[in-house]
Amino acid sequence: MFIIGLLIFTSLPGIGYYQISTNEVAFKSEFHQNAIAEIADQSRQADQKISSTFVFIKRVTDLIKSAQQELSTNFDGNLPDGKGEWDVKIADWDVEYYVSEIVQSSASGPIQNNPWLWFMLTFGLSILGGLLYMIPKFYEQEGIKHDGIFHNSFTRGLKLTVRSVFLGVVIIGIITYGILKLQDFLWPAITLLLIGVIYYLVFYKQNARNHNPPKSASPIHTGWLGVIAGTYLIFFYILLYWAPNYINNWIDMVDPISKALSGNEASNWFLYGLMYTIIVAVMGIRMWSKYRHNRYQKIRTASVVFFQTAFAFLIPEILVRLNQPWFDFKNIWPLDYDFFFDYNLNTLVSSGGLGLFMLVWGIVLIVIAVPVITYFYGKRWYCSWVCGCGGLAETMGDPFRQLSDKSLRAWKWERYIIHGVLAFAILMTAMVLYTYFTGAGNILFINSYSMRSWYGFFIGAGFSGVVGTGFYPLMGNRVWCRFGCPLAAYLGLVQRFKSRFRITTNGGQCISCGNCSTYCEMGIDVRA
Ligand code: SF4
Ligand code: SF4
Repeated sequence: MFIIGLLIFTSLPGIGYYQISTNEVAFKSEFHQNAIAEIADQSRQADQKISSTFVFIKRVTDLIKSAQQELSTNFDGNLPDGKGEWDVKIADWDVEYYVSEIVQSSASGPIQNNPWLWFMLTFGLSILGGLLYMIPKFYEQEGIKHDGIFHNSFTRGLKLTVRSVFLGVVIIGIITYGILKLQDFLWPAITLLLIGVIYYLVFYKQNARNHNPPKSASPIHTGWLGVIAGTYLIFFYILLYWAPNYINNWIDMVDPISKALSGNEASNWFLYGLMYTIIVAVMGIRMWSKYRHNRYQKIRTASVVFFQTAFAFLIPEILVRLNQPWFDFKNIWPLDYDFFFDYNLNTLVSSGGLGLFMLVWGIVLIVIAVPVITYFYGKRWYCSWVCGCGGLAETMGDPFRQLSDKSLRAWKWERYIIHGVLAFAILMTAMVLYTYFTGAGNILFINSYSMRSWYGFFIGAGFSGVVGTGFYPLMGNRVWCRFGCPLAAYLGLVQRFKSRFRITTNGGQCISCGNCSTYCEMGIDVRA
């Protein structure tokens, strides 16, 4: 049932057709509206039904670009009274906006006619299939069972060479796409240079070539089912972040749920939030069945499901319904990297008492809650109990926890990269705040907008999403947490200098079986 649900879900983007319509498009000005409608009329596209998403998106993009060109020629140096340049002309950043609006407004077919049916055939079947598989486990004997986990093609992991090639191709692919998308060479070049420097430090300066990873992270045979699952996830994230127009049917399918919660039309972010929450909840039931002999694990699992459902999903949607800003009260900078961005600060400052409270709350979390709670309870208070990324890693990612690389080499990579991301986040935020308060976009030829765009693209989407989650079946479930999360780096620094906690084996009782190291999802070689 799960597989049927997944297959239907995968085939949805290719169902239905498009007939160009601008009826539901929220135009930013009447000039834009008239120019686009006129060109659509002239090209007689309104009469055509197009079934290929690729063809339709290409045509709409060409159409908007023609309108952009026409407006720019017509109003070159002669703006109407009282109008700004972008009230009249279509800016480059608006082309993408209009394409997306028109795709949404033009799609028709079975999914738009009956979204609930398709929701049940995809999400419903998958959830039911998952539950039918999990619930019998409650009647088995208690205790953790990992029998055969390294014999299973889904959970075995990748040979080191295959893994390195896979990772290299994905990272180079993301950087190349970033150059094309953002039209920026400086930050991609700096990123490549830094990766090169870290590679040199780890492999040559510290001579880590000889520290081979243990077998647990590097099996003799690659698990091809895992490769297929990882590839699927990687493509899913690429579509979600960078090509949401191609998954319009998925978004339309959850539209009624979005309207019921916030009153707004669904977006790719709503689809992701809903999906994320459902996965954490259903796989949370699996975690509960697996660890039901352990009260600590049961409460912890309930905690991550609760924080994801209430704080990351429902409360922000309800706030929007009440005309308040979308706000996740448990998300902390620098993980929440756009907290100090101008548009967020402006929204919070202009939203009255609650908006100001959100601003102060966010700052209190950073400067007081993190150090104080970490001192008393260790950094796991956030990563294992509250964080949404941690929630997904602990539920959906649990079958892959044994794949974290425990080698010294991995640890060396980890230290450089995670502290590098923290430094990048601090620098980027400082630049953004400088621009916010002074209005100056540049400091020493470095432009704060291009820096923050690259951070959002490469770290916020590429690293935390495409690599961080897409690589669950390939490199374990804490790839982002271990190697990239700047908040983990901050929590780690606090824990290192001011904490009552250390990870250790249970003294003289340890028999060096290595189970703790094998199954530590954070890649800590506990036994060593
Ligand atoms: S490491 Fe970062 S992303 Fe992972 S659980 Fe902790 S705070 Fe969340
Ligand atoms: S190696 Fe780890 S799991 Fe095994 S006995 Fe020692 S502490 Fe326990």
